[in-house]
Amino acid sequence: MLALVELRNVSIQLGRVQALRQVNLTLRANEIVTVVGESGCGKSTLGRAVLGLLKPSAGQVFYHGHDLFAPGFRMSDELRLSVQVVHQDSYASLNPVRRVGQQLAAPLKRHKLPGSVPQILEQVGLTPAEYFAAKLPFQLSGGQRQRVSLARAALLKPKLIVADEPVSGVDATLRLAILDLMRRLNQEGIAFLYITHDLATARYLGRGGRMLVMYLGQVIETGPVEMLLDNPLHPYLQALLAALPPLDPRRAREARPLPLRSLDMPDPTQPPGGCSFHPRCPYARPRCSQEMPPLREVQGQQVACHFAGEL
Ligand code: SF4
Repeated sequence: MLALVELRNVSIQLGRVQALRQVNLTLRANEIVTVVGESGCGKSTLGRAVLGLLKPSAGQVFYHGHDLFAPGFRMSDELRLSVQVVHQDSYASLNPVRRVGQQLAAPLKRHKLPGSVPQILEQVGLTPAEYFAAKLPFQLSGGQRQRVSLARAALLKPKLIVADEPVSGVDATLRLAILDLMRRLNQEGIAFLYITHDLATARYLGRGGRMLVMYLGQVIETGPVEMLLDNPLHPYLQALLAALPPLDPRRAREARPLPLRSLDMPDPTQPPGGCSFHPRCPYARPRCSQEMPPLREVQGQQVACHFAGEL
């Protein structure tokens, strides 16, 4: 099956920072791919690369087999509309002075799409639809605004939605409802690239799909979500998981964060040589500062660590 979007060995330079380094990613119809990592690891840059907003300094971005940045290539409306985005800040992504109904009706009219505003609002659980259609964005809660953002992205009938931290600004009690809505849209045929720093929501929304773990612009571990979260092989993912508080508060004393050698992310303008995680890695050996570990298959996952599987 032809991939919806494919990144082949993509590197992206933003000023002095190499924000992405030789990233490969294939997104196929109907799947959910989750990207996790700390802030500054390159996951939002990856999202923008998938949206075709950043020209790679090396490598290629393909939409349905078309090289986006090939000389002379012009993207059709159909291709452009096939990939949509939902941002973390739903307030900033909606027009503050236009009513919800107007904001949804405009793209329907512009692109001559089927469907009506009440129908779309009902689809995302904003009922009664007339009530929400008449609201201005500031009159809605964060969760309701994020539903409007998802509705606006979904009405364009995209094949893929890039969702960049869509529940970070939403009350914890409403997060599950938004994630369930995304899951339902996925079952209706929309693939998702879900970008998050939160491993709990990664497990919830991404279950059954693939996950990429990023560090300093590189993919350092990738594979099925459950496999990575239940059996992390890279010391970085092991550290992220060890730092999570246990679900059962009675087991709080058992939580033992991995003893990282440093809590600080290195300067991204001067990433360390060899394995970029070596200044923080509790298992670093001399080889780690000299040789960059390539992604290689270990126990059914792809891991960039010289000693994965032995640690
Ligand atoms: S290659 Fe070395 S420094 Fe890097 S994660 Fe593996 S053990 Fe740690």
